[in-house]
Amino acid sequence: MACVTRMDYQYWNEKFEKMPRRELEAWQLERLRDVVGYSLRTPFYQKRLAEAGIAGPGDIKSLADIKRIPFTTKHDLRDGFPYGFLAIPKDEVIRLHASSGTTGAPTTIYFSRDDINRWTSFVARCIYGTGCTKTDVFQNMITYGLFTGGLGFHFGGEEVGMLVIPSGAGNTTRQFRLMQDFGTTVVHATPSFLLHVESKMKEEGVRRDSIKLKRAFAGAEPYSEDTRRRIEELLHIDVYNSYGLSEMNGPGVAFECQEKTGLHIWEDGYIVEIIDPETLEPVPEGERGELVLTILCREATPILRYRTRDLTGFVPGPCPCGRTHRRLRRITGRSDDMLIVNGVNVFPSQIEEVIMAMKEVGNNYLIEIEKDGVLDRLTVKTEVTAETFMDDTRPLNAIKEKIRRTLQASITINPRVELHESGSLPVSEGKAVRVRDRRPKDI
Ligand code: ADP
Ligand code: ZN
Repeated sequence: MACVTRMDYQYWNEKFEKMPRRELEAWQLERLRDVVGYSLRTPFYQKRLAEAGIAGPGDIKSLADIKRIPFTTKHDLRDGFPYGFLAIPKDEVIRLHASSGTTGAPTTIYFSRDDINRWTSFVARCIYGTGCTKTDVFQNMITYGLFTGGLGFHFGGEEVGMLVIPSGAGNTTRQFRLMQDFGTTVVHATPSFLLHVESKMKEEGVRRDSIKLKRAFAGAEPYSEDTRRRIEELLHIDVYNSYGLSEMNGPGVAFECQEKTGLHIWEDGYIVEIIDPETLEPVPEGERGELVLTILCREATPILRYRTRDLTGFVPGPCPCGRTHRRLRRITGRSDDMLIVNGVNVFPSQIEEVIMAMKEVGNNYLIEIEKDGVLDRLTVKTEVTAETFMDDTRPLNAIKEKIRRTLQASITINPRVELHESGSLPVSEGKAVRVRDRRPKDI
């Protein structure tokens, strides 16, 4: 599948990336004790850990003792706003970031200088592992500001020594010009923005051979394997899945290596658990569940056993690249993304998986739910490719029916399907907003 010739695997920090599991676990235990120590300086954990009978780092005798620590939720972080989770003196803090607020009020994370350096090094590790070097030109087409994706990748890119163009998100015409003027070889964007870029390239008549693009880092929102393939084929590039969340620094938590068989989660920086969100017990190895993370590489805002709500599972076995850190399966969304339509559970990712695999479907789509009397009505609006619109031998109605039937087979609900011209559905500069739930909230 790779469009770029695979190079020898390269490691940013070989000692840590290929660390034998036993050593890695010893490192984790030592760091966990440090982090528990830091956390006890925050009002929130002083109370929480005391309730759990943990008075100090000495109470953590093995990695299994992590189970004695209570979970932390987004709700807790919101309650602790603004300084309830700050573990170092304010004058040692050099930066703050906030989450995007996709599911409610944003939360704030603080960084010391050492925290920023450690975070930068994790992002550099991810970038370098995809085959990028200091000779690359990196256009960071993602929102800068409080969102961690902008500055996180910016610093990581500079650390690798690449020429970093802080273009930010949006304005495709200017993005193309920058690519052409400076010979951009790698970009970072949301997958939805990359699809939009491809549509715009066609529309604006930008020739593929006028740009040197080879790779993209795509993340910040869920996307299917078919979407990755689509971006790779349309743009003739290699796409690497990038996962992170502001509570755990931002990007640089988990990333694909050149094997693209799952995202290595950096276990020298995080303790990883996957739990059943109902029972809160670990899921059997390999099964999907909710990702729970403890950050080991940050002192200013320690967060223990954070319930990310993100759904994933471990990829079994070792990766051929030689890294010893476990791999996560593609994150399909959050447990709270689930829609209940006429009593049936549907994840937006199920819909994406179906429609992005169909070649007639264009690069953007939207899911709408409304009340129709007492029932819910699900409408899937998809763009169709310009070729499909022009090809009058295939009536649009037949395509619509095909999409409807395929969707119904997968989600069991009978959706309404609307076809829209390429480029006509709304595009978001940050994370894509794919679902519009118009049902009254009090029902
Ligand atoms: P918010 O939680 O407000 O969206 P963040 O900006 O910190 O704030 O976003 C982190 C979230 O974005 C993750 O918890 C996850 O749900 C989603 N996310 C990030 N990268 C990916 C990815 N590669 N695949 C799927 N989801 C992702
Ligand atoms: Zn690997």
